[in-house]
Parts: sequence; C-alpha cells; structure tokens
Amino acid sequence: MEHIYDIGIIGSGPAGYTAAFHAAAKGFSVVMFEKDKVGGVCLNKGCIPTKAILHSAQVYEELQCCDSLGISAENVSFNFAKIIEHKNQIVERLRKNLELSLKNAKVNVVKAEAKIVSANKIEAAGEVYECKDVIVAAGAEPRNFKGIEVDGKFILNSDDVLNLEKLPKSIVIAGSGAIGIEWSRIFAAFGVDVTVVELAENLLPLADIEVSKRVERIFKTKKIKFFKGIGIEKIENEKVYLTNGEILEPECVLVAIGRQACEISKIDGITFIGDVCGAIQLAHYASKQAIEHIDGIALDKNLVPSVIYGNPEIAWAGKREQDLEEGTYKKAVLLISALGKSHCDNSTEGFIKILSQDDKIVGAHIVSKEASAMIQEILIAIQNNISVSKLKEICFAHPTYSEGIYECLFKL
Ligand SMILES: Cc1cc2nc3c(=O)[nH]c(=O)nc-3n(C[C@H](O)[C@H](O)[C@H](O)COP(=O)(O)OP(=O)(O)OC[C@H]3O[C@@H](n4cnc5c(N)ncnc54)[C@H](O)[C@@H]3O)c2cc1C
Repeated sequence: MEHIYDIGIIGSGPAGYTAAFHAAAKGFSVVMFEKDKVGGVCLNKGCIPTKAILHSAQVYEELQCCDSLGISAENVSFNFAKIIEHKNQIVERLRKNLELSLKNAKVNVVKAEAKIVSANKIEAAGEVYECKDVIVAAGAEPRNFKGIEVDGKFILNSDDVLNLEKLPKSIVIAGSGAIGIEWSRIFAAFGVDVTVVELAENLLPLADIEVSKRVERIFKTKKIKFFKGIGIEKIENEKVYLTNGEILEPECVLVAIGRQACEISKIDGITFIGDVCGAIQLAHYASKQAIEHIDGIALDKNLVPSVIYGNPEIAWAGKREQDLEEGTYKKAVLLISALGKSHCDNSTEGFIKILSQDDKIVGAHIVSKEASAMIQEILIAIQNNISVSKLKEICFAHPTYSEGIYECLFKL
C-alpha cells in the first residue's frame, strides 16, 4: 500500500502534536510517528506528571500549617503509592484526550520508531511513507554524568523518580535547574532529607541573580541543604564524592543536570523543532516553534518565559539584571508581603522585580504565588512594546498579585 502525505512528523510531544493539529487544520494530510507514548516527554515523563505530584506535595505541606487559618487537620498523612497512582490517572486521561483529538483531526498516528530515508521519505514498521514536508520533533533524553551509569536504583534520572514505589529517607539531587528544584520541593515536602549539589556559582543558574539568592533562602526555610560551586567527582559504593572533599551517603541520587537532544540524522530540507534542536528545552517553546513552522507566526526567541513550579512559583522573561550594563537601566522591586492578597493566602514569600530601559520593560523576575500567570501579563507588554507610562493607565483588580506589577511601574 502506498503511503503519501503532505506532512510527516517524527515524535508526538508538544512540538509534534502541535504541528500535527495546525497542519491538519489547514487541510494538510498528516502522519505522525511515535515510538513510545503519545504526548511525548511533556505529558508522560515531564511537565504534567511532575506538576501532579508537586500538587499533592503542596496540599500536604499546606495542611500541616493550616492551624493559623483556623483549620485543624490532625494526623495528616500521605500514601505515596496513591500519589503516583493519581499522577498516572491524570497522565492517562490527558493522553486518551490527546489521542482522541488527533483522531478527530484525522492525523494518522503510527506507533512505531521512524527513520528518515531521505528529505521526503520516512520508514517505520517496514513501510515507507512519502511526505512533502518532513518534521523532526524527536525530543531529548536525560543527560548523564560521564562514566556514572544511571541504574534506576541508587542513581536515578527524572524518568525513574516518577515511578518510585516508596520515598527514600534521603536524596542527593545533582543540579538545581527547573527539574532539580521542583523535585527538591517535592521530596522536602514529604520529609525526605534533601541535599542539592550545584556546580555553577548560584542555584538556578539561568535565573536573575536575586532570584537565585531567594531560592537559597527558600531552601533554607524548607530545610533543603545545598552546595553551590561544587561538583560531583564520582559516585562509588553508594557514596557521593564532592569536589570539595565531602562525601555524602544518601539513600539515592537524582541526576538532574539537563537534557540532551535525541540523535537523529540531519538531512537538508528537513525541519527540526522542539527539544531535539537542543536550544531552549521547554514545552511551550516547542509548540511555538511548531506554530512558527506551520502557520508562519513569528517567534521571538528572546521572549520565552521560564517557570519553576511549587510554592512560591518562580518565573521570568526577558533580560536578567546581570545581563545589563550598570547605569543603563531602571529597576523596581516590590516585596510580595506588601500585597494584601499574599496575607489572605498565607503566601507572603517572594518579590516582583521589573527592569526597564527607555520607558520599556526589558525583563521581569518574579518569585510569588501565581508568578506563572503574572509573567504572561508582562510578556504581553514587552512583546508589544507597550511603554511603562502607557501601562500605568491599566486598572488592575484588587486584591491580586498583579497589583504588585502596577506598584512596580510607579517605581520605574
Ligand atoms: C521532569 C521534567 C519536567 C518538565 N517540566 C516542564 C515544565 O514544567 N514546563 C515546560 O515547558 N517544560 C518542561 N519540561 C520540558 C518539556 O517536557 C520538553 O521541553 C518538551 O516535552 C519538548 O517537547 P518535544 O515535542 O520537543 O519533545 P518530546 O516531548 O521529548 O517528544 C518527543 C517524542 O518523540 C518520540 N521519538 C523520538 N524519536 C523517535 C523516532 N525515531 N520515531 C518515533 N518517535 C520518536 C519520543 O518517544 C517522544 O515521545 C520538563 C521535562 C522534564 C523531563
């Protein structure tokens, strides 16, 4: 049987399925190949499952200190196996929805490993598919330390921790990027003794320096131990040897030192989108790249928001203070505790920091409950070149966290 399509997509993560939906909506015939589970890393091993577990962790944490709110929740306990089961149910529900939506959109999903034969030919399960446009959205895999093998028992990666049957008593987390921070919050909330080891000078090294410092403070209040500017030299006999000479003996180690693009042959005329490109490895960037390719809607690579979830959330977009030359910018900072809403929510930790140049916002860095929503408001302003003076005309609702943005505008 001949397989002829307008568009062939390898990988069904956010990059792949977004490309598929948008191409199908334009009337193109689409075939999409997936060697594992539909939805990719984001849905099955990344964004969604971690946020589901994180939510359970947050509820557990909140229930333990709700006395001051006039609520007594005595003998609060958790069942980790049930938490994992709940996470699995969410993932399965969303995967089924996605599969159904793809079917309704008439995207042919082939569950097999695909190989590129040429710029217009893909081979999968012994069949050849001719496609006018081939898109590779094959994603990325957890990066390992050179010479240290992830065994899924003592040394775990971000896939392994999602299916732990029981919690360890102690864990060393290598890396304090988004994955390292979110998991340190999860483990700490459930009473695991957590030590984060970060090779860079600061925790959350990609963040603005003041955000990194605030993460240190949050870690201290949550009793998460950390080393910065220190690497892991070797792991031997269930001992973690640090470059400063210290030796840690945790029950297990989570390696969260980034992700490496899947290897797939690069042939001229083929489009690569999402994590496989290796640059910004975020789900929303992956799907935006898909839309850029299919719909031609431009993507500003300098304006991709970053969000770390948990309590409080951490979000930023645009330039960091350390990227700007002294004297060339204005800075406004507002402590979240200055906002009435934060007291009502018992969530006063954090700040909003906005950087501007020539009456335009150039960067925003937020540590706060609802930071993920607030960064979006600021992005709209930056992307559309709306001046600080013009933004002051907006009426912000009270009581909200967004009011903090408004307060900052008057300090710029
Ligand atoms: C623990 C964790 C938490 C995360 N949290 C967030 C978050 O909160 N927000 C965020 O924006 N990002 C988050 N990410 C990153 C996010 O998951 C990725 O950026 C996103 O999944 C990338 O999408 P993609 O479509 O490029 O690739 P993927 O989602 O990796 O999908 C690629 C798919 O291609 C398939 N594939 C590969 N090769 C072939 C082949 N030859 N044939 C057939 N199929 C193939 C793979 O099986 C995979 O399903 C997280 C990642 C992890 C690991």
